[in-house]
Amino acid sequence: MNFTQTRGIDTSRPATVTFSEAILAPIASFGGLYVPETLPELGSEFLKKHLNSSYKELAKDMLNRFEIDIDSEVIDEALALYDNFDDANNPVPVVKVKENLYISELYHGPTRAFKDMALQPFGIVLSSIAQKRDENYLILAATSGDTGPAALETFKNRANVQVACLYPDGGTSDVQRLQMVTEDAPNLKVIGINGVFDDAQNALKRLLASVNFNEALAEKNVSLSAANSVNFGRIIFQIIYHIHSYLELVRQGAITQGEKVYLNVPSGNFGNALGGYYAWKMGLPVEKIIISSNENNILTKLIKTGKYDLNDSEVIGTTSPAMDILKSSNVERILFDLFGAARTRKLMGDLEALNAYELTSEELTKLQACFDADFCSGDEGKKYIKDTFRNDGYLMDPHTATCLKSYETCSNPAIKTIAYSTAEWTKFSPVIANALTGEVDAEDMVALKSISKEANLEIPAMVKGLFTKPVTQKTVIEKENIEEEILKFL
Ligand SMILES: *Cc1c(COP(=O)(O)O)cnc(C)c1O
Repeated sequence: MNFTQTRGIDTSRPATVTFSEAILAPIASFGGLYVPETLPELGSEFLKKHLNSSYKELAKDMLNRFEIDIDSEVIDEALALYDNFDDANNPVPVVKVKENLYISELYHGPTRAFKDMALQPFGIVLSSIAQKRDENYLILAATSGDTGPAALETFKNRANVQVACLYPDGGTSDVQRLQMVTEDAPNLKVIGINGVFDDAQNALKRLLASVNFNEALAEKNVSLSAANSVNFGRIIFQIIYHIHSYLELVRQGAITQGEKVYLNVPSGNFGNALGGYYAWKMGLPVEKIIISSNENNILTKLIKTGKYDLNDSEVIGTTSPAMDILKSSNVERILFDLFGAARTRKLMGDLEALNAYELTSEELTKLQACFDADFCSGDEGKKYIKDTFRNDGYLMDPHTATCLKSYETCSNPAIKTIAYSTAEWTKFSPVIANALTGEVDAEDMVALKSISKEANLEIPAMVKGLFTKPVTQKTVIEKENIEEEILKFL
């Protein structure tokens, strides 16, 4: 299968590229993104065939249908990483929470958030492509707390890849920071910045565009790549768990095969939701995809009104920081799929030039046939955390909690919902402890202990262990010195 481009094709690039090429250099003509030329049609036969398959068997067959240029052994090696999740037989448990609400838990991997679902296998795939081509890659990552640990974990000690990960010192939870600064491998560099997430993100963008920096890398024979969710190498692994979760509902007798469900996704950069959209297009019976946001509700506004307007919005810091995003990159792939390349190029051009774009009413109707959306404030989220724990015995994190609001406001109660849980309670414990017990501003360890007691849950050993692991990554610098620091590391 080949990949085409969301904003049309300029003369600087081939009209189509392979999967490997789309992974190594994810930015396409006119600043667009790569998308598959066609999607494989899975149909009801595929679902029936995999009713009793393991997660890995399902994944392998789905990836095969994409006919990507990755060796079968590499794919096997990549998928084998799901064996390290909490339950090797079922890396993604789906739990019934209320009569028509099922929660698919995407956080049972090594860094306790859903980024592992795609980044774990992606690390093997990228490293194998780099080795095969005898090339060396630098992955630059700026993180608000979940992508960083997952990227470091997947690339640690992998050949032909180095990672430099920037995080805002003081801007992440203790658990997230410890996951990064205790990583110890010669190919990893973790850099704390005196600033906020936007400073890290802007520094990264400056570096990607810097002629000096790129020349210095070329001298060292290193190319730049990115591991964020614009990379289709991540998206492809995010289609699988939507199909798996649907099949789980069939297996549990909650639905019959063919029955439509809602997919309710806590969204930031729209990678998770895009995976669900592709699964639907490939034949999964879906009623609608419901987009859940926090106070940074630009996606709700887009889906309700057709307007995407950054002019008077600023990113608000919330209790669900992995969704504190206003420029949601993967929406572009939806625009392309619904309205084509010429229109996508125009809309994205408007966004760059005017900080805003607006869909026509016909376009909005098309978008609303696929998506509905609502947003949930931090206080509402805490109430959902507390009530769902008290009434249904289910503990969730603040990102997942945003789905409970839209579950109430956007779904027809006769249709079952699969909502996605994107982080374990251990990763955002101060907010959850506050929701459950009212305690304020607890440090992570204190909050972990009080939730553990309140909810009668063990703190997982891998989380507890972080607090006694030696800190090996001690660099904290001013943002002006990032380039120098990275070059020193290479
Ligand atoms: C990354 C992340 C999200 C947002 O996912 P997108 O694919 O960017 O929409 C939601 N919750 C958590 C915990 C995350 O880490």
